[in-house]
Amino acid sequence: VLLGMSLLFAGIAIAIGQFMTSRAMKPITRSYRMQREFLANASHELRTPISILKSGLEVIDMEEGSKFSEFTFELLKDLQKETKSAAKMVSDLMLLARSDAGVQQISYESFEFSQMAEQVMRSIQGFAHVSQIKLNLQTQGSILLFADQERIKQLLYILLDNAVKYTPHGGEITLSYGLMDAEHTQKLCISVTDTGIGIESEHIAHIFDRFYRVDKNRSRESGGTGLGLAIAKWIVESHRGSIQVSSTPGAGTSFTILLPLK
Ligand code: ADP
Repeated sequence: VLLGMSLLFAGIAIAIGQFMTSRAMKPITRSYRMQREFLANASHELRTPISILKSGLEVIDMEEGSKFSEFTFELLKDLQKETKSAAKMVSDLMLLARSDAGVQQISYESFEFSQMAEQVMRSIQGFAHVSQIKLNLQTQGSILLFADQERIKQLLYILLDNAVKYTPHGGEITLSYGLMDAEHTQKLCISVTDTGIGIESEHIAHIFDRFYRVDKNRSRESGGTGLGLAIAKWIVESHRGSIQVSSTPGAGTSFTILLPLK
């Protein structure tokens, strides 16, 4: 009887606990949902005016700079730069809003990962060169991946772009990849390592959060929105992969990604 009574009380206590938790959670869940809906609506509404501004400003031929006063010329340059980053932020926000709503498609196809890695490294060469940053590519030959080609390319760009942004002049960035056995299957392991400023340990847990920037000024100056790593994480997780970071302040950062081959 005693055992029965204690089980009954335990059951009632658990039920009350669950009821209280679900009641307590309701406003949180609601505000979370409202925040996400706001994000989706705001990015959608901003898309048209920003793209009109962007294309309007692109029409102004900066080569004809002599037509403008120095002040107007500088102002136009700033406007072009700012609208470009606003357009990028809106498209990043829309991607995250679509992923929240579960409507962002992942288009799987087979492609040669090594070719993509080489192409991405080539295209950031100019950007890295400006800061005299040396780029290294360590490969393991050809690797066939079955994934969303566009998104995987975007992932590489986000990580390499950050590596360049947060590495001082004269530094080094290495993109390496290869196959490894994990959880009884072969996976593609990609790592992007830099010799940059690093990330203090108290920030590590937050860098994948939306809009989280360790140094807002530095990130903004280099065109950052604080959305890159949130998107990187979404891309990796939507492919059932994992992303990890290790960093030593003042010495550098390394991002490691594991992706199933298909
Ligand atoms: P941002 O657009 O600001 O670069 P991200 O989401 O890509 O936003 O990154 C979030 C923050 O993580 C950055 O603001 C920066 O402080 C930090 N971070 C990301 N990558 C690196 C890196 N390779 N080295 C040092 N800090 C980094």
